[in-house]
Amino acid sequence: MSTLQRKDGALAMEGVPLEEVARRFGTPCYVYSRSMIEAAYREFDEGLAGVDHLVCYAVKANSNLAILDVLRRLGSGFDIVSGGELSRVRAAGGESSKILFSGVGKSEAEIRFALGERIRCFNVESEPELERLNALAGAAGTKAAVSLRVNPDVDAKTHPYISTGLAGNKFGIPYGRSLEVYRHAARLPHLVVSGIDCHIGSQILEASPLEEAVDRVLELADAVIAAGIPLHHVDFGGGFGIRYREGDRTMDVGHYTRKLAQRMQGRGLQVLLEPGRYIVGNAGVLLTRVEYLKLDKAKRFAVVDASMSELIRPALYEAWHEIVPVTEAPRERATYDVVGPICESSDVLGTGRELAIAEGDLLAILSAGAYAMAMASNYNTRPRPPEALVDGDRILAIRARESVESLYAGESTLDKAE
Ligand SMILES: *Cc1c(COP(=O)(O)O)cnc(C)c1O
Repeated sequence: MSTLQRKDGALAMEGVPLEEVARRFGTPCYVYSRSMIEAAYREFDEGLAGVDHLVCYAVKANSNLAILDVLRRLGSGFDIVSGGELSRVRAAGGESSKILFSGVGKSEAEIRFALGERIRCFNVESEPELERLNALAGAAGTKAAVSLRVNPDVDAKTHPYISTGLAGNKFGIPYGRSLEVYRHAARLPHLVVSGIDCHIGSQILEASPLEEAVDRVLELADAVIAAGIPLHHVDFGGGFGIRYREGDRTMDVGHYTRKLAQRMQGRGLQVLLEPGRYIVGNAGVLLTRVEYLKLDKAKRFAVVDASMSELIRPALYEAWHEIVPVTEAPRERATYDVVGPICESSDVLGTGRELAIAEGDLLAILSAGAYAMAMASNYNTRPRPPEALVDGDRILAIRARESVESLYAGESTLDKAE
């Protein structure tokens, strides 16, 4: 399904050579493929075709307005985790009636904003949040649709930092308490119980934990309905893993969703999913140029102009991203640690990579569409890179490179501080 191809040794995305993107935008630069985003979205949408469903893209994976717009045009809903993301979805033309609001720490201001926008549903993560939402909805003279995020206590078998469905995680309402909380929610005057949801973690590569979560959530849904509380939807969250490393296995989303659709047939419940990474992860690359080859050390280092500021996943969870030269050239092969210019030893993009490269060469760091730009920082006063969207043989500028001045525009020297 990849739209990355080599033609005469040069890497191209859809119809566009990546060298051309680097010439136009400079490096580092994120580049995304529209057709790959669309194809990944359709795997969910088509898999669930047999049942009433809504795919709600998890905005935090990549929140660029153009990407939200691409998905909106396909009919996607959106799963947000902040008021800021709500603003983005609205700015991209996303309909409020397709927005879910997840997250453990929704502030009063965020809840008021979302109530005013009349979003579709609040995914409530705790009992105190339920009380706060009820009070704010009452004050606003409205009713809030709610779903309780239950913690099914299922091991997603993924990295501990991105596992969220275990009893020891901060997320969701403990499974054992949830029926009681549903009874309470149903009595609160400014809430309307609408659904049930879970999200057990990210980068999940096996269907079994996801299916176990489905079992547990459906068991609870049956109990809630039996208690006289009608439900409109069930939301099984996101977490679908992608292939980062050549040869790694990947989630079979088509198989999972078709099986899920079969299972949900005739239940009268709308099915919601919240995929983030799977939709954009493999659709993006980070372009970077080799600044120096440091050969005088016990190890060889390729120092590039991208860093942990633009792609923190290797530093944060020792994640692997393929790193390939954009143009193949006759050069000496050697094993390098590919590192950035940041003053941290953790500023690594890849260790032990066999590469035939020279200074000035352009490299592509693959699978950088999700949780790359979205997690980028300005550490070391580095302006965040531009983003480009490839659409057939067109290149669209979808975010400009930040200026250095904008990074300290809100700061003051002592003589100007109040
Ligand atoms: C992060 C998140 C998602 C998306 O996770 P992916 O692993 O990117 O699919 C979905 N739902 C919730 C509640 C999340 O926090």
